[in-house]
Amino acid sequence: MSNVLKDEYRVLTELKRTDEKVFRLKKELDQIPVEIADIEAEIQKSLDIYNGVKAQHDQIEKNLRKAESDLREKEDFLRKAESKMMEVKTNEEYQAALRENEGHKTAKGELEESVLNLISDIEKFKATLQQADSEHKVRSQKFNDAKKKLQEEGKSIQKSYEELLEKRKGVVASVSNEVRSLYEKVAAAVKGVPIVKAENGLCTGCHVKLRPQLFNEVLGLKSFHRCPSCGKILIAVIDETEQTT
Ligand SMILES: [Zn+2]
Repeated sequence: MSNVLKDEYRVLTELKRTDEKVFRLKKELDQIPVEIADIEAEIQKSLDIYNGVKAQHDQIEKNLRKAESDLREKEDFLRKAESKMMEVKTNEEYQAALRENEGHKTAKGELEESVLNLISDIEKFKATLQQADSEHKVRSQKFNDAKKKLQEEGKSIQKSYEELLEKRKGVVASVSNEVRSLYEKVAAAVKGVPIVKAENGLCTGCHVKLRPQLFNEVLGLKSFHRCPSCGKILIAVIDETEQTT
């Protein structure tokens, strides 16, 4: 067994470990925006709940403004109608005007009652609105805190990720040109960690059974092989107690 090849196997073992961390961190990193989007959806949901209550409140207020305006119109109408009554010439006309005004007076009374009811409704609803507002504030505070925490976590993972990529560059630089170009070729072609262990006659990447001759060559550290099924670089399990992580 060539020592140079054994060293290369060592480096590939380290590269495999580094890549496993790289892929793990990348997965965590990709998860952060997904989780943030979930939180933002929760914040929006909370705002929608509040807006629903606010819309009910605004509707009552709108009804009140309308009733107040109708009441003012009715009062104006009655004032004018009463001054017109001073001008009627006959008793018949006077009686007719009186009857007509009675109807308007009844309507005015109903409007007054409606204004009072709506004022009372809006007073009662004020507490509901305040409660909805404070509940929304508590919820969005909680969600925003969680979002901030995730963003910070993302920054920290990003930093570790970049450091790891730098470290990997150093590891890759320490293998021979031949092995490096093999690694780079495989890394570009496969999904996930490009280096896998060959163990018990199997590729641990895709679990396919390896030809005995191929497996023995990998075990004997004779040359580098790619799994015929998944295309990843096969490495033997070598004395790992000597490894530095
Ligand atoms: Zn395989």
